[in-house]
Amino acid sequence: MSDQEQRGFETRAIHAGTQPDPATGARVTPIYQTTSYVFENAEHAAALFGLQQFGNIYTRIMNPTQDALEQRVASLEGGTAALAVASGHAAQLITMHTLLEPGDEFIAARQLYGGSINQFGHAFKKFDWNVVWADADDPSSFERALSDKTRAIFIESIANPGGVVVDIPAIAAIARRAGVPLIVDNTMATPYLCRPKEHGADIVVHSLTKFLGGHGNSIGGVIVDCGTFDWKGSGRYPSITQPNPSYNGIVMADAFGDMAFAIACRTLGLRDLGPAISPFNAFLILTGIETLHLRMQRHCDNALEVARWLESRPEVAWVSYAGLENSRYHGLMQRICPNGAGAVFTFGLKGGYDAGVALVSGVKIFSHLANIGDTRSLIIHPASTTHSQLTPEQRTQAGAADDVVRLSIGLESVDDIIADLEQALTG
Ligand SMILES: *Cc1c(COP(=O)(O)O)cnc(C)c1O
Repeated sequence: MSDQEQRGFETRAIHAGTQPDPATGARVTPIYQTTSYVFENAEHAAALFGLQQFGNIYTRIMNPTQDALEQRVASLEGGTAALAVASGHAAQLITMHTLLEPGDEFIAARQLYGGSINQFGHAFKKFDWNVVWADADDPSSFERALSDKTRAIFIESIANPGGVVVDIPAIAAIARRAGVPLIVDNTMATPYLCRPKEHGADIVVHSLTKFLGGHGNSIGGVIVDCGTFDWKGSGRYPSITQPNPSYNGIVMADAFGDMAFAIACRTLGLRDLGPAISPFNAFLILTGIETLHLRMQRHCDNALEVARWLESRPEVAWVSYAGLENSRYHGLMQRICPNGAGAVFTFGLKGGYDAGVALVSGVKIFSHLANIGDTRSLIIHPASTTHSQLTPEQRTQAGAADDVVRLSIGLESVDDIIADLEQALTG
C-alpha cells in the first residue's frame, strides 16, 4: 500500500491523483483543452499504440485532467484503476460492452434509477444483452434469476428513489458463488457514505453528474475496477481473456492483471464506442470532489432533519427515508452507510395528486426539476412529470403513485429549507 492509499478519506478527496503540473508547476491540475498529443518519436508512437507504454494519444481515450479525476475516484473507492466517461449512462454502457456478448444475460435490481431501467430494458436489447429483473429487497431473487448465460449482477447501493438501502454483502455472496462480477451503482451514496468494494463489489459505477460533481454543472460518469474478479479463472469474458485482434493479439488479463477490466473498458469500449468526458467537465468534477466529505455529511444531516419534520406534519401520510429509526431499511443503513442515508427521499401527501402539484408550484427555495445531488434543494412530483406516461397502476409499482413527492435536500440553511416546505404546504 502506498502512502497515498493510507491517507484519510478527506486527504485523498483533495490530493489523490494530483501533483503539481510537471510542465508548469501549476498546483491545480489544468484543463488540458486539446484533442491530441505530439509523440516524442516514431518508437514512442508505436509503443503507445501497441499498449506497451501508457500515455496520451488522443483526448477521447485519455487526458491529463481526466486522468487526475480517475485516480482520485479510484482512490476514494479503493479500486485498482478507474475510467471517466461522458455520463453515468456511458459508464454503464461501456461496463456491459466489456462484459457481455450478444445473447448473454445480466441480472439487475428492479429498484434502479428510471433511466437505467430504460437503458437496460430497451437500448441494451438492440445489442442482444438481456436483463433479468430481481428484487433488491429479496437477495434470494437474484439466485433464482441466475442462468448459464448470466454474466453480471447490477444493483444500486442506496436505490432510487432514495428510501431503499440494498444488502450488498448478501448479493455479493450470490455473485461470488455464481462466478460473475457484482456491479454497484454508488451514485446516491458516493464513496463517502459507502465503499461497495468493502462489501464484496467487483466493479463500481457512478454518475459523476450528481453528488460527486455536486454542483449541478457537469455531466460525467466513471467506472472503477476493484481488482477483485478472477477473469482468467472464469474464462467467460472474451474481451478480457481472449487474444485481442485489434491489439496484436494482446490478452488484457495477462498484460494488465488486476487492472485488466478498467484497461479493457478504456482501450476497447471507450476507444470504439466513443463517449469521452470533456476535460472541462473533468476539471469541474475534480474540484467538486475536494469538498465531498463536507457536502455529503451536511446533505445527510439536513435530509434527516427535513424527514423528521415532514413526519410530524398533518399534511404528510408517510416518509420513506432510511435515516429514520422507523424505516424498514434503518438496520441495513447502519451496516452499509452508517454516516448517513443520503439526501434523496420520497414522502406521500394526504392530498394526493393535486397536493403534489400545489407543493411543487408553491416552493421558492426548492427548484422544480428532474435532477438530484446539487448544492440546491430540488423537488419533483413524479406522477405529473417523469412518470406521467405510465398508467396509475404502473406508477404505483414504480413507487411514483399520485401522492409521492421526491426531494433532493441541498446545503442551504436547514431552517430555510423547512420554512419553504411549510409555506408551500400550508399556502
Ligand atoms: C443520474 C443517474 C444515472 C445516470 O447518470 P447520467 O450522468 O445522467 O448519465 C445512473 N444512476 C443513477 C443512480 C443516477 O442517479
